[in-house]
Amino acid sequence: MNEYDSNRILDLTKKINYNLTNKFNDTDCYILNTCHIREKATEKVYHDIGRLKKEFRNKKKPLVIIAGCVAQAEGDIILKKEKYIDAVVGPQSYHKINQIILNLEQDNSRLNHTEFEPIEKFDQLNLVKNNNSKVSSFVTIQEGCDKFCKFCVVPYTRGPEQSRSLIEITSEAKHLAKQGTKEIILLGQNVNAYSFGKHRLSDLLYALDDIKDLKRIRYTTSHPKDFTEDLIESHASCKKLMPLLHLPVQSGSTKILKRMNRGHTVEEYLEIIEKLKKKNPNLRFSSDFIIAYPDETELDFNKTISLMEKIKFVNSFSFIFSPRPGTPAANLNQIDFKIAKNRLLRFQSVANRIKKDYRNKLVGSPQNVLFENDAQKENTFFGRDEYFNSVIVHSKDDLTGKIKKVKISSCNHNTLFGEIIGDLKKTEYAA
Ligand code: SAM
Ligand code: SF4
Repeated sequence: MNEYDSNRILDLTKKINYNLTNKFNDTDCYILNTCHIREKATEKVYHDIGRLKKEFRNKKKPLVIIAGCVAQAEGDIILKKEKYIDAVVGPQSYHKINQIILNLEQDNSRLNHTEFEPIEKFDQLNLVKNNNSKVSSFVTIQEGCDKFCKFCVVPYTRGPEQSRSLIEITSEAKHLAKQGTKEIILLGQNVNAYSFGKHRLSDLLYALDDIKDLKRIRYTTSHPKDFTEDLIESHASCKKLMPLLHLPVQSGSTKILKRMNRGHTVEEYLEIIEKLKKKNPNLRFSSDFIIAYPDETELDFNKTISLMEKIKFVNSFSFIFSPRPGTPAANLNQIDFKIAKNRLLRFQSVANRIKKDYRNKLVGSPQNVLFENDAQKENTFFGRDEYFNSVIVHSKDDLTGKIKKVKISSCNHNTLFGEIIGDLKKTEYAA
């Protein structure tokens, strides 16, 4: 989402002639878009500002703006502590970036813009075209969260759930498709909480399915609590919806899920997976896990390992619980760090074994790969298969934006390697 937001900030600032530069030491305005989900986020900001100060010691100081969730959560503290920063702008206020920059150019009073104005933001962003021309592009459809999991800062930094209208989203998608985008990744803190008028996420998926030049659709992140029957059905009927679903579970223990305030049990999670697999047997799953949440016993932890073994998630993101200031879980007794670290390593070794087995089985198989851009070496191209695995092939022809059938010949932990064996049959992506 920050990548999407950063690109939209760039679309906006172009209007006042501020363009992207890759010359770090020759910039007029430096915007640092930040994430606050786990610890050390604020320290990273001070570290970056330190680097900037050193670089600009003998030059005109650039405008320095801190954007994103660290700005939202700690705006006043940052402004007080670091005089080099000119403004902080929260994730729901960045549509005002041009006004902020122009004001700063005129007078040097320092500013804090951290109001929650998502509707005004969506309205403003709709007026500025998303000028991304990437083969795979993000589109935000929903922001904020009303779930208040006890460990999470998002409801405090991104505010309440708000959805964009289906018409605006499809019009952004059509515009992107015209510019060469073949894959859209729908973004939101809880994409399946999407609700605008009578439209739900499944309506949006079918509307995007009808855009001729678009070939692939994905969405992230969804929440088990909002996994409705119509959405399950769309995994069978929506032809361009890719067969990998990221569905965070956090823990395999219902006791811990309850303490996290996740709003569902492990059995309910398994039921959703079963229903989805019945509708589409090709579906595979990835997930997020929080290890060593307060009160997690060895038994609870083993239940998380069992869940991993049962579902065989092909990819997973796992972190030790990180107490976030202002959240209810921050006040709970934490698990000893040594125990927590040991559990994380044990969990990750199981997760890695499962991922390795899955990837080894892909060797020799044909996969449909959408190529995104040149890989680093000459005559090599980078793309993704339907399960979002990175694939690299050799080719003398430019493959960017094309979908090819690739036979996987080898793999390592991050990448599959293969050779092109043909094109897609028309029926595979009936558009
Ligand atoms: N809305 C999504 C959901 O409910 O699954 C997740 C969005 S959250 C921005 C992304 C991931 O960050 C979560 O799934 C969780 O695993 C991780 N996370 C959030 N807060 C955390 C914390 N305090 N400590 C460790 N991991 C955390
Ligand atoms: Fe955070 Fe996701 Fe829970 Fe919302 S549902 S509070 S974004 S973890």
